[in-house]
Amino acid sequence: MSRFDLSRDELAALLEGEPSYRVEQLWRAFHLEHLDVSEVTTLPRPLRQRLALEPALALAWRVARESTSDGGATRKWLLEADDGARVETVLMGYRRRTTVCVSSQAGCAMGCSFCATGQLGFGRHLSSGEIVEQVVLAAGEAARAGFGRLGNIVFMGMGEPLANAANVLGAVARVNRDLGIGARSVTLSTVGVVPGIERLATEPLQVNLAVSLHAANDELRDRLVPINRRYPLGRLMEACRRYREATRRRISFEWALIAGVNDRPVDAAELAALARPLGAHVNLIPLNPTPGYPVAGTDAAGVAAFRDALSERGVNATVRHTRGREVDAACGQLAAGMEVGGLGRRRPARVAAPAPLA
Ligand code: SF4
Repeated sequence: MSRFDLSRDELAALLEGEPSYRVEQLWRAFHLEHLDVSEVTTLPRPLRQRLALEPALALAWRVARESTSDGGATRKWLLEADDGARVETVLMGYRRRTTVCVSSQAGCAMGCSFCATGQLGFGRHLSSGEIVEQVVLAAGEAARAGFGRLGNIVFMGMGEPLANAANVLGAVARVNRDLGIGARSVTLSTVGVVPGIERLATEPLQVNLAVSLHAANDELRDRLVPINRRYPLGRLMEACRRYREATRRRISFEWALIAGVNDRPVDAAELAALARPLGAHVNLIPLNPTPGYPVAGTDAAGVAAFRDALSERGVNATVRHTRGREVDAACGQLAAGMEVGGLGRRRPARVAAPAPLA
């Protein structure tokens, strides 16, 4: 648990007997000024000393390791909790607007074959406060580094956000209310948890939905993304259609291009057939190498050809600039450099790569 799991009323209860404005002072200091209790000098020293010992005001995470790349503009933190849970958070600093990629679970149970986190197995869900704390950490670092204001949050770190939907949606509501980051600046990436998409369609939060598709026929998707066996493409596309109808928001499909596996003309044709009726935008990401999945990403010429094949079929596609490759902070790489042994985490099996299709 994190101090960011506390509600205002719970914080007020900890400050019982103090003037009521102390609650606002402390709330602002935590959420907007990125201060620790000992740094809130507007509070009297004896109060600071008392609050510094209050377990409910502790932070969940300590930074066990920081790596940087892109001249310091990309920073990845390995965060560790008292129970041994470890997650990774990535800050991508831009001059005008900064983005943080957060984790929603320690590890992941989905087992996507190409994904470094999937190769680790599942640890536990993160609480809403543990997610918000990652955003606050990144916002504070962005301010110190002189980056643009942290304005975008992507749930593309460790874990499947819609497998921990209650806590993730709670975190989105909190960053919206307490940090002033609108839900429209938040992107939830799911590998295809259909009940979660159905729930999102009924939520008032206007988040962006990114579906990590990676294959457009069930035979290949069963191999790359095992949850497809439970929620095959027919059900997934129907959930996307209903989500689009209910929210009127554009969906994006994420496609990690894997050489010889899902980067052929026939793959582009199948993908276009799914994306076009939904008006979905496609993000193409050349697969990043991970220790457990020894298949290369598509080369630059192949990526361009795939994008052009989509475009010829009326589908807009963007090749995503992958930041942080050298610190294992690129898509599908979180946890690639992490030691095994965190809470409840299984030793990663070497995952058999799908044979390239003829
Ligand atoms: S791609 Fe996403 S859902 Fe799949 S194993 Fe990795 S973190 Fe989990």
